[in-house]
Amino acid sequence: MDSMPKKKAFVTRELVERITEEYPTPFHIYDERGIRENVRALREAFSWNRGYKEFFAVKAAPNPFLMRILQEEGCGCDCSSYTELMLSDAVGVKGEDIMFSSNDTPAEEFGLAAALGATINLDDITHIEFLEKVMGRLPKTLSCRFNPGGYFSMGTDIMDNPGDAKYGFTEAQMFQGFRLLLDKGVENFGIHAFLASNTVTNEYYPELARQLFRLAVRLQEETGARIAFVNLSGGIGIPYRPDQEPNDIRAIGEGVRVAFEEILVPAGMGDVAVYTELGRFMTGPYGHLVTKVIHQKHIHKEYLGVDACAVNLMRPAMYGAYHHITVLGKEDAPCSHKYDVVGSLCENNDKFAVDRMLPETEIGDYIAIHDTGAHGFSMGYNYNGKLRSAELLLCEDKTVRLIRRAETPRDYFATFDGFEIFDRLFPKETSEESQ
Ligand SMILES: *Cc1c(COP(=O)(O)O)cnc(C)c1O
Repeated sequence: MDSMPKKKAFVTRELVERITEEYPTPFHIYDERGIRENVRALREAFSWNRGYKEFFAVKAAPNPFLMRILQEEGCGCDCSSYTELMLSDAVGVKGEDIMFSSNDTPAEEFGLAAALGATINLDDITHIEFLEKVMGRLPKTLSCRFNPGGYFSMGTDIMDNPGDAKYGFTEAQMFQGFRLLLDKGVENFGIHAFLASNTVTNEYYPELARQLFRLAVRLQEETGARIAFVNLSGGIGIPYRPDQEPNDIRAIGEGVRVAFEEILVPAGMGDVAVYTELGRFMTGPYGHLVTKVIHQKHIHKEYLGVDACAVNLMRPAMYGAYHHITVLGKEDAPCSHKYDVVGSLCENNDKFAVDRMLPETEIGDYIAIHDTGAHGFSMGYNYNGKLRSAELLLCEDKTVRLIRRAETPRDYFATFDGFEIFDRLFPKETSEESQ
């Protein structure tokens, strides 16, 4: 076994010191090389399938620069809201390269998805008529999201609880829905399911694929609908903890291939395209939230107060999620001290880590919080009047590029534009200085 810690930051203290001359902490920084190498490995793993396509789940990292990198590597976008659709279209990911997988969908969102020519993945059988009303007629291609109910388990392990999830059609509704869609002139069908989140096992996708491929065969045989694609959605996870074994995307792709050969090919369905809608797996490990220790507090416990807080990364506060921490410049120092690493929100769950063993840390040290590249910045919010941070890109040539500026107070108050209070806060003649 390697004695080095398994999780290594992709930034160094020297680099961060250089960056902060221009962009103060906190900020999220993304590793372009890591993102590109990973997406290439994913595409290679599924290259056996002629129609394979990854639709990047935009909600994981809705930044046009990151989306464009993925687009250059052959990805489409998976959107689930009006502004995500706008963003994808503006980035240049258009038409069929957009998968619209939404639920409880407002009419305007279906309207924009249809206008952009996105492939629509319906979440409910009642949305067939809802969409027909919005569009006037249905598109030639439609997909339906499946929810088998019960528990999703592999062997003796319960992975997740679809029976308790709000998404999708029941099995009976899938058959009923496909017949209804056929009656209404739909020609190409897709099926989709998202049954377990953040799986760190090479068996999830193959097992999901087996279930969906069997369903696809039955749907095609019993309804006559032509299944054009099976969308395995998201759910491939990442090892947030240093002791977790990362997924082997080659093994996952191979597992799905075996299921495809066993189930679809004998049914004469070897032309079915396999789609994925991965978010976390695509960008998660390739982001860090970089923050500075600004206070130390010694009361009943030892606290490191940093200049980021839960608005910059919600997962620890929301799910108690583990995010690994590297004290930059102290990578090889012994983890001899136990700290709570906290932000400044007036909420006691604003803790990036609790009872975490770290090297002895001082005020002024920089900390990299790992695996913030997906569902990190994007889950941000403005509670306590806190502002969103900048996003930076560590480019392949090692230069650092600003890909989103930090919010200023003016952004926070922007929705009072036109109200008197806004002019009082940002008088016209001094508006330059107020920024
Ligand atoms: C969130 C989401 C994804 C991406 O999930 P990850 O766990 O980030 O891979 C894909 N599809 C849909 C419909 C989603 O809601």
